[in-house]
Amino acid sequence: MGKASLTISEVRDMMLAAADKIIESEPILTDADRALGDGDHGVGMERGMTAVKEALAGKDFPSAGKVFVAVGTAMMSSMGGASGAIFGTLFRSGGKAVGEGDAFTAKELAALLREGTDQVMARGGAKPGDKTMVDALVPAADKAAEVATLPLDEALAAVAEAAAAGRDASEGMIATMGRAKTLGENSLGKPDAGAVSVSIIVAAMRDYAAA
Ligand code: ADP
Ligand code: MG
Repeated sequence: MGKASLTISEVRDMMLAAADKIIESEPILTDADRALGDGDHGVGMERGMTAVKEALAGKDFPSAGKVFVAVGTAMMSSMGGASGAIFGTLFRSGGKAVGEGDAFTAKELAALLREGTDQVMARGGAKPGDKTMVDALVPAADKAAEVATLPLDEALAAVAEAAAAGRDASEGMIATMGRAKTLGENSLGKPDAGAVSVSIIVAAMRDYAAA
């Protein structure tokens, strides 16, 4: 049976599961960033998610939003590089938008992704089509708004599909931001590494809510 909503400690456990999934996926992320960037994204995400595990494991949080803020703070302070600041912004801004409630439903998921994505775009300057993680985040946030009244497990299934489709769509884009920019048309045919990370995180959230 899937979960229609999560408690605060379930939100924590969901993000611990996402951290494990990213750590496990380090070789995939390394390969993706090696193709288009400098190859450090896998190791950076592994370091960030190791810090997330230290910040979350065995801890109690006063609200669902504060769990995501802690995820963002841990990533921002441990990773460095473009993606440390960007994932930090995503989860810290998104977590604040989730608010101080003790239930995490599809409505809070929509708030997390919308505010987090908007702040990533405002601060980083990337727009849809620039071949960055924004190309997985925007479809995920749009889908989350559409399914905000569904049970969380069903909403996350739809949102994970949208994030994966965004990751796939990034293969057909020419990079205009970050390190991949210098490749121009040679950036075609491969997915953006940050978009791969986003799709892995959302898929892990989906799997947690589905169980
Ligand atoms: P660095 O580029 O410093 O080596 P990483 O390799 O960890 O950092 O992360 C690269 C990823 O960061 C890219 O695949 C892309 O998704 C994301 N990225 C880079 N710049 C931006 C930006 N301005 N806005 C959104 N995402 C970005
Ligand atoms: Mg890199």
